[in-house]
Amino acid sequence: MNLSSFARVRLTQAPTPFEFLPSITRLLNGPNIYIKRDDNTGLATGGNKTRKLEFLIGEALAQGATHIVTQGATQSNHVRQTIAAANKHGMKTTALLEERVSGAHADYYSSGNVLLDQIFGATLETRPAGLDMNHELIAVGERLRAAGEKPYLIPGGGSNPVGALGYVVAAHEIVSQTNELGLKVDCLVHATGSTGTQAGLVVGLQGCNSRIPVLGISVRAPRDKQEDNVRKLARQTWALLGARGEFPDETVVANADYVGGGYGVPTDGMVEAVNLLARHEGILLDPVYSGKGFAGLVDLVRKGHFTKGQNIVFLHTGGAVGLFGYRGVLAPQAAF
Ligand SMILES: *Cc1c(COP(=O)(O)O)cnc(C)c1O
Repeated sequence: MNLSSFARVRLTQAPTPFEFLPSITRLLNGPNIYIKRDDNTGLATGGNKTRKLEFLIGEALAQGATHIVTQGATQSNHVRQTIAAANKHGMKTTALLEERVSGAHADYYSSGNVLLDQIFGATLETRPAGLDMNHELIAVGERLRAAGEKPYLIPGGGSNPVGALGYVVAAHEIVSQTNELGLKVDCLVHATGSTGTQAGLVVGLQGCNSRIPVLGISVRAPRDKQEDNVRKLARQTWALLGARGEFPDETVVANADYVGGGYGVPTDGMVEAVNLLARHEGILLDPVYSGKGFAGLVDLVRKGHFTKGQNIVFLHTGGAVGLFGYRGVLAPQAAF
């Protein structure tokens, strides 16, 4: 797969670390658990969107864009990383924040990613839940064009075929790190939302003839819908890369058992996972994505789905900044 023909800027401190988690492995008394630290991509406190933005910002610059327009939920990690990447490359950003999570703690609307968005200096607009956010994005793009700007639209999560290329790159990186360690990986587990991460991974792994199975833990959609969405983007990414033959649909597998009450709604498993990794490995997960993803991994170990002797890799996609929006659930009895 030839990635060199795509416009790209460098934003990621790669390769991100690949580490063994000795305490968690001992504690769960099941498979060997490793972690790929894409929470440490380096830009604006890190996270998975940085890899996608290398190609998205690259394309925006190639098109002469002056203004990035994107959207996400109020505590979007994607919006935070996008503004930082645009700032670094001399473009302005307008971000639409969808009030997708209702009844959250006041911090949710003002702290965490929202605070950082404000520090990075983007134009922020809010939208009520339930609108067609891509339609909203196009409307804002037209408004900016009429005002003389050259807008470049990035969909939610940076999840289109261009953005997914970032995770094609990551797949190559993971294969080379595990090969170096002589490690046979039985499953690569991560949180899946807007699908660019999983689509890029499955396409990239296929491209290097790797048989590492990927399991996406859904944070929003039911299993069938999530798998359909990932497959659709994977096929488009496959086509963009000019890969030969058909994309192997069966490589897309999701599990939606850990969504709980919905996107951004805390679960007991998430709180346990955040506490486990913080207290035994000194690693911060996040409440919306990686916390639920890791909760899924823990539960699948406890249920015997993953067993002793296997090597399971958790792809940490970042998001710890979002913890500050969830003080009410993570430290409910804090006196100060
Ligand atoms: C966006 C995000 C994800 C999900 O990645 P997708 O490519 O949207 O599926 C996972 N974890 C974190 C922290 C994220 O911000």
